[in-house]
Amino acid sequence: MARQRFGIVVRAGLSWLECAALARFPWLIHAFSTRRGGVSRGTVSGLNLGFVGADRRRNVEENRRRFLAALGAQGFSLATLRQIHSTHIYQVTRDKAGKLAYLAAGSPLPHRSDGNPPVGDALLTEEAGILLSVRTADCVPILLVDPRRRAVAAVHAGWRGGLARIVEKTVGLMRATFGSDPRQMLAAVGPGIQPCCYEVGEEVVAAYSGRFTDSERFFCPVLPSKPSEAATSRSPAVSLSQHPPGRSLATGPAARLDLAAVVVAQLRAAGLSARNIAVSGLCTACRADLFFSHRKEGGGTGRMLAVIGIRP
Ligand SMILES: [Zn+2]
Repeated sequence: MARQRFGIVVRAGLSWLECAALARFPWLIHAFSTRRGGVSRGTVSGLNLGFVGADRRRNVEENRRRFLAALGAQGFSLATLRQIHSTHIYQVTRDKAGKLAYLAAGSPLPHRSDGNPPVGDALLTEEAGILLSVRTADCVPILLVDPRRRAVAAVHAGWRGGLARIVEKTVGLMRATFGSDPRQMLAAVGPGIQPCCYEVGEEVVAAYSGRFTDSERFFCPVLPSKPSEAATSRSPAVSLSQHPPGRSLATGPAARLDLAAVVVAQLRAAGLSARNIAVSGLCTACRADLFFSHRKEGGGTGRMLAVIGIRP
């Protein structure tokens, strides 16, 4: 796992992050957008790429057009999702008319889109000219590549998706769908909220401890804000046993969640080798100059897009 393997690309007035391990494939396009550039104003100022209430639709469309043009992906069809922190995963292909078709995992029938993207949190494809995307503003975007089979995936993982093992399931679906060998696959774990800024309630600690045998490694103690609290600070496991379940963040944080660690653990469990996993390590909440952050800026903030596709 290397943290140095991400760089910022500046082109056509926009900036995005790229992962060196993925950038070396000439047949691949990938990027993690930042908020730099773009036409949006106000709370979503910059390159907002999500259709949110605080922005005009035409601004988002113009931002997306500029982003794809800067990437050299203007001829690509952008595949998107209505993300709901689930484990719904789709394989994206084209129908006879050339329009995008989304095949739900385990279903032979395509999602009937009627122009709307399907509800889910991960996409995969082996077809050229399709740009898979996930939107984030604190959650972790993950891009996956199988260089042997030339197949790619994009995953959206927040604490709920992490809990439901969305990352592991996506790798499993790449195995089943494309015959991918996880030992050959590469993963780029993009910018998301880091433990420095991600305090969670006891319901999150409890949920993870119920589903992962060694969930302690995903949590850090709450940072003491006062000397008196420092003296009484406890580990999540201890505090969990001393309070009734269901205590929410409103009653005080129980721990800080390391979402990237959850993602990396699942990539490893799915069979990826540690040297093939690159982690950005940048915190969306600490770097408001670079990123939109739901936790830092509230619900009125914009969205970044992580994209990956195979060149025709
Ligand atoms: Zn932070």
